[in-house]
Amino acid sequence: MQRTSLSTLGEFGLIDRIAEKFQITNTSTVKGIGDDAAVLRYGDTSLVVTTDLLIEGVHYDLRYVPLKHLGYKAVTVNLSDVCAMNAKPKQITVSIGISNKFYLEAIEEIYEGIRLACVQYGVDLVGGDTSTTKSGSMLSITAIGEATADKIVYRHTANAGDLICVSGDLGGAYAGLQVLEREQHLFDIDPSMTPVLKGYEYIVQRQLKPEARKDVIEMLAGLDILPTAMIDISDGLSSEILHIGTKSGKGAKIYESKIPIADETEAFAKELQLDPNTFALNGGEDYELLFTIKQSDFPKLKNNPDISVIGHITEHAGVFELIADDGTAIALQAQGWKNFAL
Ligand code: ADP
Ligand code: MG
Repeated sequence: MQRTSLSTLGEFGLIDRIAEKFQITNTSTVKGIGDDAAVLRYGDTSLVVTTDLLIEGVHYDLRYVPLKHLGYKAVTVNLSDVCAMNAKPKQITVSIGISNKFYLEAIEEIYEGIRLACVQYGVDLVGGDTSTTKSGSMLSITAIGEATADKIVYRHTANAGDLICVSGDLGGAYAGLQVLEREQHLFDIDPSMTPVLKGYEYIVQRQLKPEARKDVIEMLAGLDILPTAMIDISDGLSSEILHIGTKSGKGAKIYESKIPIADETEAFAKELQLDPNTFALNGGEDYELLFTIKQSDFPKLKNNPDISVIGHITEHAGVFELIADDGTAIALQAQGWKNFAL
């Protein structure tokens, strides 16, 4: 038997290999593998379905991630994918794998975070599964959302000339992770030290307690703007721009000076003598929305402090450029997901 290493395929190569063996056979399946969520159509209503798997030691470190935050974040990262389809989150299921090392109180703490997210987003917990593991823990959440069929927004429908917009600010979640890992490392060396998180509250919160931008899809609906394409930023801006551009058969040009970065993120990057744009482009886990709009919709958005227009879609399929402050063009590259490349 041939043995192909997963590191040569990468996550997306692997998903493509899986997807090519399956055919869609039901007319209710409008979109299968390949977007932030699958789309199922029943009458005028479409349902979107998305799932995420979080594994201890890979996606979360229980030495510094509070259990309540873990539960909250596990829900919001899924709701973010629902929002990225321009749908409203409605239900979740939660599956947990835990070793007997866990106490009831710990599980209750995780579920308190899950409950808070359900209340915050108006979502119902409707089921799940519970299993033991030999060691470590895992958490898998499926989220279901609803939209009228003509309001669903995909990744593959951006047009040349469309403006590329991003909500909120980027790079903060990655910066927060660096702070938490640094303090954990210092604590491992000297357990008598007290972790210093003062001054880093904003970026630590971006890492530990991300929100799904349901408010943004509501704001866009209120302004009567239907994005031409949309994706949530889970793997870093570069990777997501490439997803929208590649799936739409187009290219993109974005401007470094337009990338929204919070002061705290910038200050921390400077402290490490790193470029804050790298955090935004390759960091990930910001769970902001990246979307494209028709130029004619720009006047409705231009004074919105929460939305940044960072560039535009071009006709040049596969050409993705970052224009630096001095005008030079750099090819955007997706670092994306590196787990299989270790
Ligand atoms: P996101 O980052 O938005 O959560 P992913 O990159 O995880 O999206 O997944 C991209 C697409 O691939 C989605 O449609 C997802 O449902 C699908 N997918 C991921 N892993 C698998 C798998 N093991 N089997 C089938 N489909 C998968
Ligand atoms: Mg997504």
